[in-house]
Amino acid sequence: MSRSLVVCQQCGEERELAAKGLCFKCYRAEARSALNLPQGFVDRHNPAIRKEHKKIIAGFAKVLTGLSDLGVNRTDVHTIRSILDPYLTPVTQFIEGRPAVNSEHESDTLVHSSLELTKE
Ligand SMILES: [Zn+2]
Repeated sequence: MSRSLVVCQQCGEERELAAKGLCFKCYRAEARSALNLPQGFVDRHNPAIRKEHKKIIAGFAKVLTGLSDLGVNRTDVHTIRSILDPYLTPVTQFIEGRPAVNSEHESDTLVHSSLELTKE
């Protein structure tokens, strides 16, 4: 029996739907994060920035580096950046340093530290 594939609202990957618009991996991760683990407890099975996020961040960094090497002007960089916006949605929360808009557990997300990228 096969289930239909959907684009996961958390990781953006096309996978089997578990519940709440999430794939099984993200749904289980969210369930674990909702357990209110004691402060200082490290759950290495539930990283905020996962492999699929890392891939997007690395790809975006390569694009920016390429635009820099090509000497692309500010206006064109902003145009290209806006075209890339939908592709960056899964990691926007880490780049901007605030919780994801579609998160149903925003208070849980606020507990975790977030990656902050410095502007150059
Ligand atoms: Zn997912």
